[in-house]
Amino acid sequence: MPSDPPLAEFTAAYAPDDAALAAELLTTATLPPHREAQIDAIATDLISAIRGSEHGLGGVEAMLREFALSTKEGLALMVLAEALLRVPDAATADAFIEDKLGQGDFAHHRIKSDAVLVNASAWALGLSARLVLAGDTPQGTLAALTRRIGAPAVRAATRQAMRLIGNHFVLGETIEAALARAQPYAREGSRYSYDMLGEGARTAADAERYYQSYADAIIAIGRRAGNAALPARPGISVKLSALHPRFEAINRDRVMRELSSRLLELAQLAKSHDLAFTVDAEEADRLELSLEVFAACFADPSLKGWDGYGLAVQAYQKRAATVIDHVAKLARALDRRMMLRLVKGAYWDTEIKRTQERGLADYPVFTRKPMTDLNYLHCARKLLALRPHLFPQFASHNALTVATILAEAGHCDGYEFQRLHGMGEALYARLLADHPQAVCRIYAPVGGHRDLLAYLVRRLLENGANSSFVAQAGDDSVPIAELLTRPATLIGHPENARNSAIPLPRDLYQPQRINSRGVEFGDRSALAALLGDIESARRPLPTVASTTPEQAAATVTAARKGFESWSRTSGDHRAAILQRAGDLLEQHRGELIALLQDEGGKTLDDCVAEVREAVDYCRYYASEGRRLFGEPLVLPGPTGERNTLALRGRGVFVAISPWNFPLAIFLGQITAALMAGNAVVAKPAEQTPVIAEVAVRLLHEAGVPPAALHLVQGDGRIGAALVEQRDIAGVVFTGSTEVARAINRTLAAKDGPIVPLIAETGGINAMIVDATALPEQVADDVIASAFRSAGQRCSALRLLCVQDDVVDRVIAIIAGAARELTIGDPRDPATHVGPVIDAEAKTRLDTHIAAMKREAQLHFAGTAPASGNFVAPHIFELSRASQLTEEVFGPILHVVRYKAAQFDDLLNDIATTGYALTLGVQSRIDDTIARVIAQLPTGNVYVNRNIIGAVVGVQPFGGSGLSGTGPKAGGPHYLPRFALEQTVSINTAAAGGNAALLTGRE
Ligand SMILES: Cc1cc2nc3c(=O)[nH]c(=O)nc-3n(C[C@H](O)[C@H](O)[C@H](O)COP(=O)(O)OP(=O)(O)OC[C@H]3O[C@@H](n4cnc5c(N)ncnc54)[C@H](O)[C@@H]3O)c2cc1C
Repeated sequence: MPSDPPLAEFTAAYAPDDAALAAELLTTATLPPHREAQIDAIATDLISAIRGSEHGLGGVEAMLREFALSTKEGLALMVLAEALLRVPDAATADAFIEDKLGQGDFAHHRIKSDAVLVNASAWALGLSARLVLAGDTPQGTLAALTRRIGAPAVRAATRQAMRLIGNHFVLGETIEAALARAQPYAREGSRYSYDMLGEGARTAADAERYYQSYADAIIAIGRRAGNAALPARPGISVKLSALHPRFEAINRDRVMRELSSRLLELAQLAKSHDLAFTVDAEEADRLELSLEVFAACFADPSLKGWDGYGLAVQAYQKRAATVIDHVAKLARALDRRMMLRLVKGAYWDTEIKRTQERGLADYPVFTRKPMTDLNYLHCARKLLALRPHLFPQFASHNALTVATILAEAGHCDGYEFQRLHGMGEALYARLLADHPQAVCRIYAPVGGHRDLLAYLVRRLLENGANSSFVAQAGDDSVPIAELLTRPATLIGHPENARNSAIPLPRDLYQPQRINSRGVEFGDRSALAALLGDIESARRPLPTVASTTPEQAAATVTAARKGFESWSRTSGDHRAAILQRAGDLLEQHRGELIALLQDEGGKTLDDCVAEVREAVDYCRYYASEGRRLFGEPLVLPGPTGERNTLALRGRGVFVAISPWNFPLAIFLGQITAALMAGNAVVAKPAEQTPVIAEVAVRLLHEAGVPPAALHLVQGDGRIGAALVEQRDIAGVVFTGSTEVARAINRTLAAKDGPIVPLIAETGGINAMIVDATALPEQVADDVIASAFRSAGQRCSALRLLCVQDDVVDRVIAIIAGAARELTIGDPRDPATHVGPVIDAEAKTRLDTHIAAMKREAQLHFAGTAPASGNFVAPHIFELSRASQLTEEVFGPILHVVRYKAAQFDDLLNDIATTGYALTLGVQSRIDDTIARVIAQLPTGNVYVNRNIIGAVVGVQPFGGSGLSGTGPKAGGPHYLPRFALEQTVSINTAAAGGNAALLTGRE
């Protein structure tokens, strides 16, 4: 077990303001004129070398120029590269190739470059694509190709092209092969850092495999490392996410216990060969945890006397400089020397997306490229000054960045440059020729082609982006002078530090509404503040008395009175109240989360998401309400007449909601009905009465008159009593299909007005996974969809349908990932799966599990705490989809395998369930995705992602058939269903003739 580090843990603001950072960076950015001139000269020389080298840019740079990502061909090529080599069956590979080649115009793509790589891939693709001509249908293409050259030839040529591209980026498929290939260069003095390719571990077996491959590689590298001393020795780069299946902030204690000791073992092994050993930099939400693991390992006395331990730091992160200060302090405190690799960062688009999805206050990374460059130089300066405690390693393929460092350092001692294998060759060849004392280490990926492709795509994406130096250097039309423009000049003023085209997460939906506020669990201080709020708001749950049927009837009468005045308020007034309600919910987040945990058994992540959804409903319906219930719509008509259409409240709406979203669905129904001008009698589920009371209290506090919003408590009998009332104007219901049917019958049996029923019920939700899908991504999405919220979401995944060519691997990875879930007390932030709602639900699920054990093949059974209403995740394989006849509302996943040739039968089976709520498709073949969408009328279709967590106003939610009546909650058609329409036609010519017409001009 590693030791306690001698320093306090790393703390820094997660996402500080860009302008404040820019102000600081800009003050140190200007250099004396002679230095600037020197930088210009070096950079010009390097760029000229890049542009003038024998094969142009050679390698990937040339390929990117031919197949830029901004072209259809480039995109198709990237998707093809990402998936082709992992597709095992010929039929899917052929369909995939056909699909991608059909998207570009490869046949007419004239090759401008003579670089070997471009020619090889273009030749193969051109050969395959020559018959993909305009007007050909995708279905007809393969047949035509097969007739001409045969499908196997097409497949073989395309795979070969992909292998060539792969070969270019990977030094070897095994460490031995890589070492052999590096040997001649290493003998001449080139330094290498080997990287074992692969996606992060999802299972314990993955983590063990990566550990072994790192350990084996260290031994193999060590054997051939020669006699030079560090830093002139080879090294290895490791990813913490590869060494633990749940490397995430909420799992801190487990990660520190399990991962730190694994990392230490590898570091000790590396030390025994005196190698360089670098911990790669990954996503921003893992930075604090990475640093803790890194420090715990570094502090271990067994590593004393070794200078090879190192860390990568990303300059696109706003915290980069603080990280450097922190590790420098650590090195000083331990009196050790360590290596520090400065990179710009490889996950920029992922960071932006995650921050938006989580509704954070600001981005942890810069949003303008020159800010990343400026910060890189700032950090570089810091590193150069921190020698000899740190050994700086500058990883960049940007000639200006490299030239600046060279000029600022003044000499080449005490640091090195680094480049990726397959990139930056011309730049560094010239640099080393001009500055023989300079050193460049090559980061060399090692691995089989299946593992390579995710890495390759990151490189293609990064370097194909217009903003990237590689792309610009490769474009001869960009003058060298432009490439020499300093980042400080491009920024100019601190106010320009932010990219105005990338809104802050809060403003994502503006001008319509403000986004709800989220929390980053990877931000320790934000998580601690949230947990503090929750604990200080936690109270014992009071008991809530049930309403009697008589009281329920009287409540409807009272609500009828409330309707009179509420329906006469303006849409603006009602919207303003909902706005306030949204703000109040955010202010009471701690209290609401404590209740959701204690009463609803929900995990922290689910609670935060649920409060956000409730807030979003308030704000979305407020903004929709302003649009729909403001001024009447003026309609065209004959002159002398004014025709308008307006919406108004119907009367008293009964809102009956379930326990699984006791805040969000409860408030979603109520706020929509209120916004439309109705009075509401709300009946929450009997399992979650206290949350409902608090939610109603907050709505009253926001300004909804108590007469317009009433709460009745009780079980299904009270709900039934409400629905029977003569005076109700409509029912909005979320729950089971059976209860929805009963409500429908009760409403139909009544004399009097025919009133609307808006019902959202369950689903046998399926996800279809073909052989082109990425198994790791499928595992993440299936685990979230099937087991998050203990499977108690209407949208949860029940039926996973996997192509039989890949099913065994897919099940193995999902089962392995499920094994890593923590099941237990939902108040513990580390819990992934909490209890099911009550003993009755547990009994029902246990009975189903027992039946499945007899009728299906068990692939995984988790273990859950013995006391409490826990049901562990289970995975069963059915022989056919039709074996699952009803929704099973818990963490039980059913899997069926299908043959690619019988895809339509599968779609038919899914349609035959009669449900149509959510559906997932995981495939890289656009044609397959389009077929699924066209053939199944499912309400919410999710492609290559999980199938839960619909966002208000972004993924309006609800299905059809046995899954509900529509309209979709959180969508533009929802509010009108709660309203009456009224057309008013006024004969404006009745009194005094048609003055407007008579005075009109010709
Ligand atoms: C030896 C080596 C090791 C590496 N190890 C790691 C690692 O451990 N972790 C890791 O994440 N990456 C790692 N990388 C990848 C590295 O991050 C990229 O190769 C690098 O960012 C490319 O920078 P550049 O100076 O060559 O190119 P440039 O084109 O000058 O810069 C590209 C950078 O700008 C950023 N950028 C683009 N648009 C914007 C924008 N609008 N706002 C802000 N920033 C923007 C990109 O994200 C990228 O970081 C490594 C690279 C090398 C060479």
